[in-house]
Amino acid sequence: MKRHINIPVFIPHKGCPNDCVFCNQKKISGYADAPGIDEIKSIIESHVSTKKPSDSYEIAFFGGSFTGLPLSDQERYLKLAEGYVYAGLVDGIRLSTRPDYIDENTLLFLKKFPVKVIELGIQSLDNEVLMRSRRGYTKDTALKACRMVKNMGFLLGVQVMIGLPADTLEKSIETSKMLIAEKPDMVRIYPTLVIKGTELASEYAAGRYRPLTVSEAVSWCEKIVPLYENSGIKVLRIGLQGSDEIREGGEVLAGPVHPAFGELVYSRIWLNRIINEIERAKETVTKNVIIHVPQNSVSAVIGQKRVNINILKERYGFLAVNVKGDSKDKNLLIEFYD
Ligand code: SF4
Repeated sequence: MKRHINIPVFIPHKGCPNDCVFCNQKKISGYADAPGIDEIKSIIESHVSTKKPSDSYEIAFFGGSFTGLPLSDQERYLKLAEGYVYAGLVDGIRLSTRPDYIDENTLLFLKKFPVKVIELGIQSLDNEVLMRSRRGYTKDTALKACRMVKNMGFLLGVQVMIGLPADTLEKSIETSKMLIAEKPDMVRIYPTLVIKGTELASEYAAGRYRPLTVSEAVSWCEKIVPLYENSGIKVLRIGLQGSDEIREGGEVLAGPVHPAFGELVYSRIWLNRIINEIERAKETVTKNVIIHVPQNSVSAVIGQKRVNINILKERYGFLAVNVKGDSKDKNLLIEFYD
């Protein structure tokens, strides 16, 4: 099976003039300083040395606002990365940036290099949420950036956050619908965490901000994720902003942190699908069921500590609920028997 692997190169935006309430830039990428050229070379080379011919690798400049860096720095990083692309060792470059750091000249500059994917940190398309989070741009700027990236022939990734100040489930769903209309190729969904040293941490300490709980964040995501997936948009990641080092370093003060957050979300999404299917077939409900799903979804279908199996048994009085990983794609088939 072809694997897609990003080689993550975290470049914090030192001296970022923005003031997003959730960000502590030095903590967010897990590195205090931008890596030097030699360090980047060694990161890339350690990955490509284990590459299989069928793997697809991209050098991914994450962690900051790439196009907000001085042009000379961008050029240095991109020239280094393109060397690996032209040598056939990696397949392209991806980078993440802010929507207000996108304009025609920037995109024309990036076009000179083998940049395939641009991920925009949209976070929200609700103007109040953007303002309260001090993102420094509006919905219109974010949508314009999405359109420019697509029109210039790049693949578009969008990053959204749920549970920012002033956010609601309805606003997050509306953001998702507006983004889906822009036809992004992929999305990352991050529940907002309260990180030490941020303005959000002060707001939290003063009782003016309450993050989502794990259970609330799962419940928002179980509604949002299918909107993207049913529109053919790949969900690359659900959970944790920044590096895992944040969580392990104890820098998260509050918020929906769970080591398997994405699995919790998919587990709930599968439960919803199974319940819908059972309700549809109600007249044939029997004492036992076999649920056929793809092999890689079996553990999400069963749920942590068999939570989904227990819910189904309790709700429908089933004696046995078996899950088999033998269906194709994302198909779900339920067999009822006595
Ligand atoms: S999240 Fe905001 S403050 Fe932090 S680096 Fe990005 S733009 Fe700057």
